[in-house]
Amino acid sequence: MNPITSKWPYNKGLQDLGNGCYAYLQPDGSWGWSNAGLVVDSGQSMLVDTLFDLKLTREMLATMRRAEPAATSKIATLVNTHSNGDHCFGNELVEGAEIIASKGCDEEMREDGGAKRLADMKRNASAMGETGAYFARIFAPFDFEGINMPMPTTTFTGNLERKVGNKTVRLIEVGPAHTRGDILAYVPADRVIFTGDILFINGHPIIWAGPIGNWIKACQLMLDLDVENVVPGHGPITDKKGVAAMKGYFEYIQAQTRKRYDAGMSISEAANDISLADYSSWGDAERIVINVASLYREFSGGKMTANIVDLFGLMAQIDKDRRH
Ligand SMILES: [Zn+2]
Repeated sequence: MNPITSKWPYNKGLQDLGNGCYAYLQPDGSWGWSNAGLVVDSGQSMLVDTLFDLKLTREMLATMRRAEPAATSKIATLVNTHSNGDHCFGNELVEGAEIIASKGCDEEMREDGGAKRLADMKRNASAMGETGAYFARIFAPFDFEGINMPMPTTTFTGNLERKVGNKTVRLIEVGPAHTRGDILAYVPADRVIFTGDILFINGHPIIWAGPIGNWIKACQLMLDLDVENVVPGHGPITDKKGVAAMKGYFEYIQAQTRKRYDAGMSISEAANDISLADYSSWGDAERIVINVASLYREFSGGKMTANIVDLFGLMAQIDKDRRH
């Protein structure tokens, strides 16, 4: 498959989609380089996600304030699409905002060690051999020290509608899929959708939670909506082509992994054996390890679980093999 092409440039910073919808993009979309969204109408604004650290989020907010000074002088609503730090570690900088997330996302945020866990792991990386070196490399650009992330103030299940000025934003829960509580933010009037990490464009997605069937359903839901511009959690702005590609990837790895699970292969064997040739233009191919492990857990009814440090070790190995 060729890389998904976009009619929008993929440059760092704010992309004006028109009529008060903006995407904030961070190429190259690899580990931690996430996108965010801004919806503005009649002097009000909603921010969809913050970034992985305070410096990056500060820079993003300054850019938004230059583009829309009146509407963003006070951002009333912040939506977190899911609990991964690259979408919420900057929350504290959106002072006084209502923070909306799904109930599943809120639970996961409270259970997760947050930025402190990543800061500790980064500090201890040198004692963790190859896995630590891999971890240190992918998270080197980010600063996890001194982050105090405020938790959601409003949680929901299913759907929630919010007005931004006169504009309606529909929040649609589609998780558990990428994480326990993924939501989409859809602006019907502008035919724009912010997908969080339900979409990775030109990069391999990562199934932390599953079931994969929910993720495939989420792709179908987006394909059935009236949308023109699709802002993924990582990668360039896309349209339904990008959604269809993601759906195709999940159907492919689900079938490929099932065959190897039924044949009794280990997670590592299956991850190494599945051909990703059709996806050679996508980054972060080592994520196949996490995806296979999540599918094994699902296929075994939760019996086959793998330790996250071991999985990072396997990813480090595959990443190294690919680089040399
Ligand atoms: Zn992300």
